[in-house]
Amino acid sequence: MDCWICGQPGDSAEHLMKGSDIRSSFGRVSQDRPLYVHSKLGKNVQVRTIRDSAFKSKALLCSRCNNALTQPYDRAWERLSAALRGHPSLKPRQLIKLNKVFERPRESMLDVHLYFVKLFGCRIAENSIPIDIKPFADALLQRAAHPQVFIAIGPSSLLLPGKTILEFSEIDTLKLADDRHVYAQWTYRVNNVTVLIMYAEPGQRRQGLSQSWHPSTQGRLLSLARI
Ligand SMILES: [Zn+2]
Repeated sequence: MDCWICGQPGDSAEHLMKGSDIRSSFGRVSQDRPLYVHSKLGKNVQVRTIRDSAFKSKALLCSRCNNALTQPYDRAWERLSAALRGHPSLKPRQLIKLNKVFERPRESMLDVHLYFVKLFGCRIAENSIPIDIKPFADALLQRAAHPQVFIAIGPSSLLLPGKTILEFSEIDTLKLADDRHVYAQWTYRVNNVTVLIMYAEPGQRRQGLSQSWHPSTQGRLLSLARI
């Protein structure tokens, strides 16, 4: 299978969950300290290493796209994720001062957006979802926003004290009569932080969209959503 971003032969699989999100939530994962992951593959899938295939997409990337090209995107999410997870109490509509997280909030939030564009693209490729993947690849290659991908970040609605939760949902899609998918959404959750990632063609009015942000309008304050 070829790399869905650049078309070169693919030789590496993208992690669906960031290694840093996994490590910071669970500490070391090992043979003796397995971790249970909930995903479409099933509940309580036991994994013994963060290199486990349960965390990986079946869509392939080339190592250049998975490393050099998209590393700044991975890093930006790593930073924002750490800042939010370390926050004592996240609430919907709370404003997060991004200049306390990033030196250049606008540029870094574009990179956060591109991190989820990469994960979304991997999932579209893996599940053969009929959404045009080219604009996803172009956004990553050009370090430019995907005009139809929107993200909402908010506190997780259900917290289970003492339990650590790592979850990525299935992708829900809205299909028109001609089989065209005009809207799709899925969530990524690490403990107290939930991210709702949406693909919306113009004219869609979905609840999540009204609380979402996009790099074209994102300033120094991130307003948290109720997800
Ligand atoms: Zn590539």
